[in-house]
Amino acid sequence: MAQPAFIPPDQLARVVVSADQIARRNRELGERIAGLYAGRELTIMAVLTGAMIFLADLIRQIPLQMRLDVVSISSYPGTATRSQGVRWQLPLSADLSGRHVLIVDDIVETGRTLEAMTDEIGQMAPASLRTCVLLRKQRPDLTRRHEPDLVGFDVPDEFVVGYGLDYDNLYRNVPEICVLRQHAETPR
Ligand code: 5GP
Ligand code: MG
Repeated sequence: MAQPAFIPPDQLARVVVSADQIARRNRELGERIAGLYAGRELTIMAVLTGAMIFLADLIRQIPLQMRLDVVSISSYPGTATRSQGVRWQLPLSADLSGRHVLIVDDIVETGRTLEAMTDEIGQMAPASLRTCVLLRKQRPDLTRRHEPDLVGFDVPDEFVVGYGLDYDNLYRNVPEICVLRQHAETPR
């Protein structure tokens, strides 16, 4: 019988960021964030579904009084491996005026998701607005209008899965960030 595996070994190309590296970086990010917002109440606005695991681990490294809100945005529906543009699925309903808001997302690629989020929330007159992503995809071919304020890791320009990130809604439970064999060297 086949051994249990998060990803069938013949489908895994390589691990890009290990679970240990992620845990260490989450502690550092948590410390950074706790310093930035010391003495303030923080509102985390998380972008589901991809950020859910990062979110759950990160917020437990931030010893502050905190509110948590979520939106759901889909840029890579189904089997797409290039951004199909921003599609809101769960609208922004919280009143964020006067709040210190930190947007948390899994990965920034073109920057369109963070742009849409910062545009929307910026109009609500928050006291402050910053962005934090676990991963930043290296795309030297494009200039982002919004660069995240806090970044966990820079990753190569390949389609990655794991730690909340999916391919066709699979692999979110994988503990590390991986490239699948079929996506190693994604054609543009
Ligand atoms: P952007 O709007 O910056 O182009 O893309 C950001 C969103 O696209 C992320 O929140 C994430 O949901 C999705 N995304 C971008 N790159 C990847 C990737 O390599 N793998 C997965 N699974 N999702 C990605
Ligand atoms: Mg996302």
